[in-house]
Amino acid sequence: PAERSLNFIEQLVEEDLAAGKNGGRVHTRFPPEPNGYLHIGHAKSICLNFGLADKYGGQTNLRFDDTNPVTEDVEYVDSIKADVRWLGFEWENEFYASDYFDQLYEFAEKLIQDGLAYVDDSTAEQIAAQKGTPTEPGTNSPYRDRPVAENLDLFRRMKAGEFPDGTKVLRAKVDMASPNMHLRDPLMYRIKHAHHHRTGDKWCIYPMYDFAHGQSDAIEHITHSLCTLEFVVHRPLYDWFIEKLDIFPSQQIEFARLNLTYTVMSKRKLLQLVNEGHVSGWDDPRMPTISGLRRRGYTPSSIREFCDRIGIARRENLIDVGLLEFCIREELNKTAPRVMAVLDEKPLKVVLTNYPADKTETLRIENNPEDPAAGERDVPFSREVWIEREDFMENPPKKFFRLFPGGMVRLKGAYIIKCDEVMKDDAGEVTELRCTYIPESRSGSDTSGINVKGTIHWVSVPHAVEAEVRLYDRLLTVEDPSEGDFKAFINPNSLQVVRGLVEPSLKNIKTDAQEGRIQFMRKGYFCLDPDTTADKLIFNRTVTLKDSWAK
Ligand code: ATP
Ligand code: MG
Ligand code: MG
Repeated sequence: PAERSLNFIEQLVEEDLAAGKNGGRVHTRFPPEPNGYLHIGHAKSICLNFGLADKYGGQTNLRFDDTNPVTEDVEYVDSIKADVRWLGFEWENEFYASDYFDQLYEFAEKLIQDGLAYVDDSTAEQIAAQKGTPTEPGTNSPYRDRPVAENLDLFRRMKAGEFPDGTKVLRAKVDMASPNMHLRDPLMYRIKHAHHHRTGDKWCIYPMYDFAHGQSDAIEHITHSLCTLEFVVHRPLYDWFIEKLDIFPSQQIEFARLNLTYTVMSKRKLLQLVNEGHVSGWDDPRMPTISGLRRRGYTPSSIREFCDRIGIARRENLIDVGLLEFCIREELNKTAPRVMAVLDEKPLKVVLTNYPADKTETLRIENNPEDPAAGERDVPFSREVWIEREDFMENPPKKFFRLFPGGMVRLKGAYIIKCDEVMKDDAGEVTELRCTYIPESRSGSDTSGINVKGTIHWVSVPHAVEAEVRLYDRLLTVEDPSEGDFKAFINPNSLQVVRGLVEPSLKNIKTDAQEGRIQFMRKGYFCLDPDTTADKLIFNRTVTLKDSWAK
């Protein structure tokens, strides 16, 4: 990739390194909550965290932020690990916030001992009312001045399971008049009698994000804790806990999250799309998940290239999803073998009346004009070929360079043909074209002296292999679906399934071509779908050849 200037986080890290901070160490972490599959926004965070460590000789931990037992699941843990690896990154340590539950509990007792935390019996509504409004100070809870011994006793009994859910919480005693709402005695622990996917039934109190995240960073001696901008307002609390507990001073740094046009990214919304059957699963090729993009035909390098191009900023913005498509199109243009496929429910049969009926010719056709090293392949040619119905017009407009009655066109890699006769059924629909081929016009040894403007793709009828071809379009119809109910914007035509007739070389695609990624000439970039079976090829359209949405 081209040299680019340092982003603001790299600048900060370089300043830290120059100042000898943290003994010259750079240690980052990627902290997903295992409550869904990773999406392209997570890819940005992964590239940033792992990229920074790579660049400055540091390390990155993978830490599962699994403090909420209700929404988390091992299925998600496994998919997250697979996706990070697929993107090309390897973590130094695999940690779980739940591994720190004992340590976090001790931290909490220490704050109680120091008079900096208290057990509150107020209800959720009462606590919300105590918080006040951003323009007015809050009011103290009646339990705020409980004696230390009583707080300790109650907190231990909370842990021992003596109280039902929601009857008590542990709060940090910070400042109910702070202009920062997050400092108005935030919750540290709540009671939740729930089974945890790792700690089982050991705990019935669980730490809140704000009490778990920074402390986990500190326990791991993370130097630079990168998170998205919503956490700017949490930073004073992050620092307060570190200071009061006198633990390793990790530094929280915020950057703008990735927002993409025509895309929802919150896991909650993605889960809805899955659960309500709007898509076939987390890895549906229309999903912005890593697994969806993979199934769509995206490569790890195209996603990393995208993350590099969008950069790291301190202000929210909305990135054109066309840029993501551009990155995969650019890459596939260089790497994807070109093959021929007729994607049409009703392809047109062309019969070459002067070509011997029992003859099959093997043509050699280059695999990729962008890459001479990609070589050539065998393509069978015979008296009957399929073409796209749209490549023929009975009454063509002026600049129609494909087939029409009396017109000539080149069949890609083969011969120039001339349309002599149009066959129709009783309803007047064209059923077949009778053409003649020019024997001296064979590609590579053309001595015919005939010049034609158009070249079309084709597939030999007796050799054609049937395939199912899935054409994907945007899942949502509006640029910015963040306003209102995103489900009202679901595109009813985001998937169109068509029959394809593909050249026989594709029978070997599983072992051959670029992990199943190919270009169907004039049609777009496609990849083999994992639903493919021994007797049915299935292709997904990764991206069209040109940006059909460009204005
Ligand atoms: P979501 O709202 O999609 O559930 P999240 O932030 O709750 O996202 P986490 O699993 O907690 O999801 O995220 C793990 C890491 O990935 C966090 O550090 C988070 O900041 C980062 N991240 C999540 N979404 C984005 C995004 N759209 N752009 C950049 N980073 C993101
Ligand atoms: Mg989160
Ligand atoms: Mg979330």
